[in-house]
Amino acid sequence: GKQVPTDLNSLLKEYVNLAYHGMRAGKKPIEVEIELQLDDSLQEVSLISEDFSRVILNLSNNAFDALREKLEKKTFDAKLVVKTEQDKDLVRILFKDNGPGIPEENKNKILQPFFTTKKGTEGTGLGLSISHDIVKAHGGNILIESEPGMGTTFILELAKKPIAE
Ligand code: ADP
Ligand code: MG
Repeated sequence: GKQVPTDLNSLLKEYVNLAYHGMRAGKKPIEVEIELQLDDSLQEVSLISEDFSRVILNLSNNAFDALREKLEKKTFDAKLVVKTEQDKDLVRILFKDNGPGIPEENKNKILQPFFTTKKGTEGTGLGLSISHDIVKAHGGNILIESEPGMGTTFILELAKKPIAE
């Protein structure tokens, strides 16, 4: 793959939907309201789109898994909000779910390879570590905000300027 100017909103629409339909076609489908809040004026960002699409799939699938886990314990309106925004130098992509959240003691572990709270073969613990590597290779960053019981937001920050090769 090679970095090319990419319309992130279109990539998000395509791959969040792909993850959603994959989840719905899988063994344990759940009802999730997906809300896309995409900034129409978002500038193109220099991306390796094959790599970045994996990040979108990983974060979407993690949100669905988290929402499923909470739905197994209680009934609530499961929701995933995917949002884009920008300021002068940065483009930000937010994945916000109202799932179980991340316990304080796990927050600094979840980006590490092989860390998973999923049982058996359900989780490899590699999704976030690979996603983090991909985002870092783009000169970007992943921030995590989570309140146990309330939900989790993953924030991807990308520089608007292409990074030098
Ligand atoms: P896996 O999905 O295979 O477990 P990941 O690297 O994708 O591996 O995620 C690591 C762990 O981070 C998950 O097992 C889970 O405990 C936690 N996690 C990731 N995303 C979320 C989320 N949206 N809500 C709650 N926990 C999450
Ligand atoms: Mg995962």
